[in-house]
Amino acid sequence: MSSPTVLLSNRQIGDVNRSRVLRALCDHGPLSRAELARLAGVPRATIGTIAQGLVDDGLLEQTDPVREAGRVGKPGRPLWFRVDAGLCAAVSFSADAVEAALVNARGDVLARVEVACTTASAATRTLVAAVLEGVRQVVVAAPAEVLGIGVAVPGVCDPATGSVVGSGPLPGAVGRHLSESLEEAFGLPVLVDNDARAQALGEKWFGDGRGVATFASVQTGAGLGVGLVLDGELYRGADGAVGELGHTVVQLDGETCHCGLTGCWETVATLRWLRREAAAAGLPGARSLDAAGLVALREGAAAHLLARYADHIAVGLATLVHLLGPSRLLLHGDVVGGGEVLRSLIADRLSARSLPHVRDDVEVVLSSLDQDAGLLGAAALVLSQRFALAA
Ligand SMILES: [Zn+2]
Repeated sequence: MSSPTVLLSNRQIGDVNRSRVLRALCDHGPLSRAELARLAGVPRATIGTIAQGLVDDGLLEQTDPVREAGRVGKPGRPLWFRVDAGLCAAVSFSADAVEAALVNARGDVLARVEVACTTASAATRTLVAAVLEGVRQVVVAAPAEVLGIGVAVPGVCDPATGSVVGSGPLPGAVGRHLSESLEEAFGLPVLVDNDARAQALGEKWFGDGRGVATFASVQTGAGLGVGLVLDGELYRGADGAVGELGHTVVQLDGETCHCGLTGCWETVATLRWLRREAAAAGLPGARSLDAAGLVALREGAAAHLLARYADHIAVGLATLVHLLGPSRLLLHGDVVGGGEVLRSLIADRLSARSLPHVRDDVEVVLSSLDQDAGLLGAAALVLSQRFALAA
């Protein structure tokens, strides 16, 4: 998305100042007029007119006043998106379903459906049909105009063309079939992007990345993907192929990865590795074990394997920390199931594997959006385009 296009009418979005105000709200949450003027960088004298225009257009409303403890004087009445403002249809994929949702600009999931589909083996036709069905159900339920459709795909995507360049977990999505079919069926703008990147955008606007200038959002479990927000902007790289941290080498003489390279981070820090090691250690339920199950087993070989899992995850995180200096690492996927026990193990190992001046500045956080992160990210793709926010 090299050049964001203003797709709302001029009456609705108007000018740069209105766009800045919308972005400040997306970035920071509900704000008073005074805070909005400061954070959006618009003159105090004009913020009233800009805000009123957005209220009149049905995008914003005044929320209940918040009285801060110890503060005297009239409390501010923050402005925030209306519940029916900025409606987006969002699509993400799990192993056995296509998930679709209706999301508003606040990040509320207003409706959600799952269409059963074995996504890894689904032919393009089957996959597209499941996506169309999911989107149809949530669009029908929409109480107001839907601005667009966002699709978060586990694979390499070119958001400028809506094309999926390649996807191991979702081979049926490769090409422009999804975006073309959705555009044709619904007549709405369709935004397709990599799921880890969309997830980072979802965190930036709706989650634990709000107000954090530089952070990384890391997906764990079946694969390892990374979305980056650097100095307040989602980083897409030169051609959209960024965030393949899972395929950086962590073992020079390691095993062959499914990607064809040798010794990738993904060969030692995914569920596939964890289950193989669990089986070798004779742990019960090894074939379907995950972080939550491992933490529940607690002792002996399970505790030892949990510590190794944490350390192996930390190896890749240390690369991120040394390279980019994020102030926060937001973890998604399998490790979230391991709760505070696993989070603190990972944080400790990351600290042990990082340079002293780097390690004190980074927070390791389990995403509070977790289950919804893909859908919220897909919705954020649409908002970034429709509100003409530089994302
Ligand atoms: Zn690899």
